[in-house]
Amino acid sequence: MTELLYQTDSYLNEFDAAVTAVDAETRTVVLDQTAFYPGGGGQPNDTGQLTLPGIADYPVMKVKKQGSDVLHFLGGEDSLPQVGMQLHGQIDWDKRYLLMRTHTAMHVLCGTVFRDYGALVTGGNMEPGKGRMDFEFERLQGELVGEIEAAVNKEAQADYDVRVKILPREEAFQIPDLIRTKINLLPEGITEVRTVEIVGLDLQADGGTHVKNTSEVGQIKIVNYKSKGAINKRIYIELA
Ligand SMILES: [Zn+2]
Repeated sequence: MTELLYQTDSYLNEFDAAVTAVDAETRTVVLDQTAFYPGGGGQPNDTGQLTLPGIADYPVMKVKKQGSDVLHFLGGEDSLPQVGMQLHGQIDWDKRYLLMRTHTAMHVLCGTVFRDYGALVTGGNMEPGKGRMDFEFERLQGELVGEIEAAVNKEAQADYDVRVKILPREEAFQIPDLIRTKINLLPEGITEVRTVEIVGLDLQADGGTHVKNTSEVGQIKIVNYKSKGAINKRIYIELA
């Protein structure tokens, strides 16, 4: 089992950890703890570096959750570390921090669109600095785009704190805001729910990494929108 350091400290970009499992065939290692985000909820996985100081240097090409473990896929030619060895981890911080800003921007967008138009999110995906979000948003038309962009930037610039909590399942299930984000689809076995709240604007069950205040997001541009049918609409954003 890997302790997920990014869940409680998204700004942690270096850490030390012990190897708990190695698979030579896939060239993967499991660590007792990690700051690498394994991907999920539309946010891509982190990349970076794991080092055995003075001995080996492994680029981390990909990171993936498998059950309660996080697999780190190692590149390079150096021979693999052994179970029990201590590695030093370093995340590609520029990319991760841009993803944090992007992810929080996506929540600003869906919080604002729900508040102003009652439209629910059905999905989303992001890359560093840009993302797309799908809504059940029948009324969305070209002339609304400018209005939404202005409202979203007003909210981002309102310096809202972003708070992360890990709640017992029963407690989370009583929060009305979470019900609209389909928290009821969470598998039975999950006993805790991590919530991300943009205080005053948006509250979601979410596993991703976010900035601590919306002021870090910067300028959000709505660069395109697409109709995916009468009800389903897609909005594309980019950070300036
Ligand atoms: Zn999210």
